Amino acid sequence: MSVIVQKYGGSSVADLTRIGRVADRVAAARREGDQVVVVVSAMGKTTDQLLAMAREVSATPPRRELDMLLSVGERITMALLAIALQRRGEDAISFTGSQSGILTNDRHFDARIIEVRPFRIEDELARGRVVIVAGYQGMSYRREITTLGRGGSDTTAVALAAALRADRCEIYSDVDGVYTADPRVVTGAVHLPAIGYTELQEMAEAGAKVLNAEAVAFAKRERIEIHARRTDDAPGDPKARETIVRADVAPAPQRVRAVAGDVNVAWLRGPGDALALLDVAEAQGVPLRSVEAAGGSVQAWVSLPRVPEWERARDAFAAAGFATETDAASVTVVGDGLTEEASVLRDTLACVRAAGAEVRGVSSSSFRIIVAVDRSLADDVTRALHARFCAA
Ligand code: ASP
Ligand code: MG
Repeated sequence: MSVIVQKYGGSSVADLTRIGRVADRVAAARREGDQVVVVVSAMGKTTDQLLAMAREVSATPPRRELDMLLSVGERITMALLAIALQRRGEDAISFTGSQSGILTNDRHFDARIIEVRPFRIEDELARGRVVIVAGYQGMSYRREITTLGRGGSDTTAVALAAALRADRCEIYSDVDGVYTADPRVVTGAVHLPAIGYTELQEMAEAGAKVLNAEAVAFAKRERIEIHARRTDDAPGDPKARETIVRADVAPAPQRVRAVAGDVNVAWLRGPGDALALLDVAEAQGVPLRSVEAAGGSVQAWVSLPRVPEWERARDAFAAAGFATETDAASVTVVGDGLTEEASVLRDTLACVRAAGAEVRGVSSSSFRIIVAVDRSLADDVTRALHARFCAA
């Protein structure tokens, strides 16, 4: 008998009708004879709404209490889905993250899984039950409820797939996988049947609304193949597409796999050294992307959804002499071997200028080129770079 982990994102469980449809899908998978573990996200925009409520009470809500609040979202879905499955005659039971044995470090709001002890899940699977798990949450070794960062239900699914030695990890959402750019921004975005772990991780960190970056990193470590699919595609439909996330994917033509813009960022800059910037970042619990220092000045990017008390952090950075440029956005070209020759970087910068944008900053590695541009031009630049490197 195979063990299958299926994860359903917020839009797939946004209302009771959709939860019913997911229950039908899960019941069908169960009838195939598989042991099924279902990881669920909070319904629709529940997490955003809960967060907005907390921020209405305080601009700097304590992270511990945010975790208490936000973890409720997934509990609602898990219970409703278990009820829907039982109503369909399937034996199902729901578990919270802590009941599922998901142990994390004690960093609230952005915790990392350190161990998974899925004994209760294994017992229930052996009894023939479908196990529904609330995604995005765990318990720290101090027995505190933690959450795994926005989009963290993906991480729950991958971690459970690894711990249960699952035969398949399927991630369902409203898109049929990963594209060369966000199809809402770039009309000609191309569907990717397969993508490697590192490239997808870079895309996630670049702000692409794909899988959670930590989930991809986990999958890479544990060699879990992820199948990203659309919930509304009928199981077994030959026309339905998916993206398989796995090792050993052939390099992209022109080395570039995808382009992603992110306007939900703050760009920190200032005189001083990197250590001074990192001291503040550490004290404020702010993860930084692409820290660079040269000639007495430093710069770094902050992904704002990862910092619930940004106002306080911003003031602390300012007090240390680091200004936040909020009118900047990052546009990232993702690929493999991008610095093998100067031409990719050269063409990237030339293309940004030809699109009418000033290159306000740039940094590069083998796997990504990050360009800082005016926020108002981020979509234009994304489209131009996509046309240059990724168009079909
Ligand atoms: N509900 C959480 C969020 O919206 C976790 C998830 O959806 O994966 O970020
Ligand atoms: Mg969600």
